[in-house]
Amino acid sequence: MTTKYIFVTGGVVSSLGKGISTSSLGALLRARGYTVTAVKIDPYINVDAGTMRPYEHGEVFVTGDGAETDLDIGTYERFLDIDLSRINNVTTGQVYQRVIQRERAGEYLSQTVQVIPHVTDEIKRRIYEAGEQAGAELVLVEVGGTVGDIESLPFLEAIRQMRFEVGQENSLYFHVTLLPYLGTSEEHKTKPTQHSVATLRGYGIQPDALIVRSAVPVPEEAQNKIALFSNVEPRDVFNAYDVPDVYAVPETLENQGIGRFTERRLGLEKVVPELRVWQDAVRTLENPGREVRIAVVGKYVAMPDAYLSLNEALKHAGVANEARVQVDWINAEDTDADGVASLDAYDGILVPGGFGVRGIEGKVQAARHARENGLPYLGICLGMQVAVIEHARHVAGLEGANSSEFDPYTKHPVIDLMPEQLDVEGMGGTMRLGSWPMEIAAGTTLASLYGVGGGGVVHERHRHRYEVNPAYVDQLKDAGLTVSGVTPGMEGRGAGLVEAIELDGHPFFVGLQSHPEFTSRLMRPSPPFVGFIAAAVARREAAKDA
Ligand code: GLN
Repeated sequence: MTTKYIFVTGGVVSSLGKGISTSSLGALLRARGYTVTAVKIDPYINVDAGTMRPYEHGEVFVTGDGAETDLDIGTYERFLDIDLSRINNVTTGQVYQRVIQRERAGEYLSQTVQVIPHVTDEIKRRIYEAGEQAGAELVLVEVGGTVGDIESLPFLEAIRQMRFEVGQENSLYFHVTLLPYLGTSEEHKTKPTQHSVATLRGYGIQPDALIVRSAVPVPEEAQNKIALFSNVEPRDVFNAYDVPDVYAVPETLENQGIGRFTERRLGLEKVVPELRVWQDAVRTLENPGREVRIAVVGKYVAMPDAYLSLNEALKHAGVANEARVQVDWINAEDTDADGVASLDAYDGILVPGGFGVRGIEGKVQAARHARENGLPYLGICLGMQVAVIEHARHVAGLEGANSSEFDPYTKHPVIDLMPEQLDVEGMGGTMRLGSWPMEIAAGTTLASLYGVGGGGVVHERHRHRYEVNPAYVDQLKDAGLTVSGVTPGMEGRGAGLVEAIELDGHPFFVGLQSHPEFTSRLMRPSPPFVGFIAAAVARREAAKDA
């Protein structure tokens, strides 16, 4: 088997939706039956995304093997319906770290260590390794950033070299650009794209095809113009215009022949893609028939990308319940004291993961309000922790109970640092990360959601330092908290740590220490999210009947 490589670069502006374009192409190739993997290159110097602010950079996505990655890795997983790992996200930081380590170890003895060939070799090695590890027939490689950035140069040079190593027939260059529309002159402007392609050519890369992003479909003459100055055929200029939902992008591109183009240029057999199930899901997404309103009480309200996977999981659960999920982002700092009453306008409350004390009291109030008023509640990671704090304070009578993350001097640290976190040094990659087992108790809501009525073990991904303090578990249980999931006993880690909680006699009150949103897919929605939206739908319908 020859592995073939599809490179995606971007021009004009960042946040163009290169990740969606790359993922859509991947989805179309998967729908043709190919084994596909995807690599995201991030030119920043951080070793991984774990130490960056989600508010600026979007969420930190966690892979099964515990890597803290760029959010595009999550998009690849969702669109390609595959699990990726550490190897699929390459950063400048990782590349240089390894080159410098090798230099110190004497592996380049007598040589002058340089960007070309040492850094570019390391970049190529990582791309090849990702393909090998996945046994992939096709490897998508997305170069983050914008062509012309200083930081992305070594990566562009590496992918330029790769065409010579793997051959013309086994490599393809897509360039994604933006076509702004000027209302005053009523035309799409091609100049930025011209400049971007010229810059790319200056680095020795002639794109084989373009994907132009635009707000509305681009007229043929603009496409022809782009083709002419880009040295590509007009039919190889694809237009990813805005569509109501990202899951509709693969179909938009397929209708323009992007799949057939890829087959032709890579010498692949002509295959009719199996897109029916996907298209059905998109139709449901577009016309769901009913609606629920969910309040997400969090910190980064101005930037939905900070909770991208969560948003997607809610969407997937909406499709499963044939309901549109209308999400309102509520600033947790506005919900303490009087603000909580406004939550009654919603069919469900979700408190997502988070770090730091800001807005904590508002989240505790939101959990209390959900418990007292029978409002469906889903608590993810921090959202479970605040539900436990709330229960401890207001039901178990543990006054001032808190997490030692927010109040180091609390009398009742019901949430406390995990023992293995006590001697952790440094911040990068040191949390409890990745996929860990959770043993679900028989007869709980969680058990029925995961389809393990008699109890059983499932795996979800984690990213946290704190956990429910084992010293308080009995008191919390006595006060009516159900522990529905625990860590099964395993080497180096005590059994019985709380993984999930719920409340009996409440329509839906579930908290998980893990982040099930990371593994939710359009066609395989996450069970806790499906249950949450089902409960929200039930509440909405009941209100209608009343
Ligand atoms: N800050 C909490 C912890 O570290 C919760 C983390 C999260 O929500 N991902 O345990």
